[in-house]
Amino acid sequence: MSDVGKSQCLRLIDGLESECCRCRQGLCLRQQVLNLALGAEHDLLCLTCLAADNAKTGQELLTDLGPYVVSRECFGREWKKYQSKADCPNPGGCLPETCFSFT
Ligand SMILES: [Zn+2]
Ligand SMILES: [Zn+2]
Repeated sequence: MSDVGKSQCLRLIDGLESECCRCRQGLCLRQQVLNLALGAEHDLLCLTCLAADNAKTGQELLTDLGPYVVSRECFGREWKKYQSKADCPNPGGCLPETCFSFT
């Protein structure tokens, strides 16, 4: 494991897409996990597009899904790889204040 690729430094989940299939915005690890929690393993969406699909705001989506995600061992393990707001590579496309209120 000597080559530290881009995805590794962003700590993304291997084998999952790293950008939104709709708007091409880069995904962070937690956005990947939100897609998995919603049952999507392909054609992943960013928080903004995911929220639009669910007729919610990003804030509402996170508030609804966050507690569920962290309570599930498999999702929570990934989620917690981001330990602080500084770990999110794309704070502009995320809602770190909300995101990091679930730990
Ligand atoms: Zn998008
Ligand atoms: Zn993020």
